[in-house]
Amino acid sequence: MKTLLVVAALQDGRLKRSTFEVIARTREVAREIGGDVAAVVLHPAARDVAPELMAHGASRVHVVEDPVFDRHLNGPVVDALAAVISEIGPRLVVAPSTESFKDVMGALAARLGAGALPDVSEFGLEGDQVVAVRPVMAAKMMARVSSAEPLVIVSVRSGSYEASRSAVEGEVVPVSFSTRADAPCPVLRDILTAGGGEVDLSEARVVVAAGRGVRDEAGRDLVLELARITGAAIGASRAVVETGLFPATAQIGQTGKVVSPDLYFAIGISGAIQHVAGMVNSRVIVAINKDPDAPIFEYATYGIVGDAFKVLPPLIAAIKAQEGR
Ligand SMILES: Cc1cc2nc3c(=O)[nH]c(=O)nc-3n(C[C@H](O)[C@H](O)[C@H](O)COP(=O)(O)OP(=O)(O)OC[C@H]3O[C@@H](n4cnc5c(N)ncnc54)[C@H](O)[C@@H]3O)c2cc1C
Repeated sequence: MKTLLVVAALQDGRLKRSTFEVIARTREVAREIGGDVAAVVLHPAARDVAPELMAHGASRVHVVEDPVFDRHLNGPVVDALAAVISEIGPRLVVAPSTESFKDVMGALAARLGAGALPDVSEFGLEGDQVVAVRPVMAAKMMARVSSAEPLVIVSVRSGSYEASRSAVEGEVVPVSFSTRADAPCPVLRDILTAGGGEVDLSEARVVVAAGRGVRDEAGRDLVLELARITGAAIGASRAVVETGLFPATAQIGQTGKVVSPDLYFAIGISGAIQHVAGMVNSRVIVAINKDPDAPIFEYATYGIVGDAFKVLPPLIAAIKAQEGR
């Protein structure tokens, strides 16, 4: 039976939503070819998340438990994944397109002699080919890419598929692993945590993003309040990152983060293609802009033409009234 292997993505010891999205699609592909879905988790307490992976359809969860995986380091991650993949011999390895996985994907593919299809929004198997769709040129075009290598690694953009549960009786497979004593190993000294919002941007269901139209601290307070009452992560255009009004970690776009939430508020953002590249896959886009000809309205599901300083206070009040806050 052909095995499809999902590499789980974790944050603070918890599985990321994108992992469940990837498993849901991998399950469908496995069903089409009569295969099964396995998962691999690298974490000091990897087995803690195994039940949740089984609840989403992973019939085997390979757990690699070592303190070295407490923080992402490319070397041990590539070593461990290469060992597990070589052992299992899957047809396809699928992972959420996180920063960490993007960092190791090339090395992993080179080590295993595998095909690599990074950052795709759709994937499947057609005969002996792994086929995928990949947004390119700032998401203006969709490229159809494929690989006929016997082993292919695919990384999938967050939000590309719906997560869904499908429980199986799975088994946990412990994998022994030790870092090579002679291997040069980088040391991760510190992680600077992102400021400006408690919700992880790349995983958020709702994003409130600010652009130059937000202008100053008073505008930022309105944006933060809207984010607070909607449980949103805070995003920003490059313009307001450059002025220092929002942190660089909030930047969305070609040179920032790619997000695909259920709901995206674009406040005082013109809709430059470099920004749109990072948010165009959002399910519902609400744009607030005082210029009726702003390009963002071409992408918006709902457009509000008006001054954000006048539109936001009643909008916030209405949401609060609705939610009884
Ligand atoms: C190589 C390259 C990479 C880039 N990467 C990125 C990237 O990753 N992310 C990114 O965002 N940008 C990126 N940019 C910059 C991008 O081209 C735009 O300059 C930037 O996105 C503009 O940000 P903005 O929409 O906030 O500002 P502007 O384009 O200045 O738009 C401000 C908008 O606010 C509206 N507005 C003004 N006042 C109000 C008000 N009171 N109420 C409501 N609306 C108001 C205006 O009508 C206008 O539409 C990149 C550029 C280059 C060249």
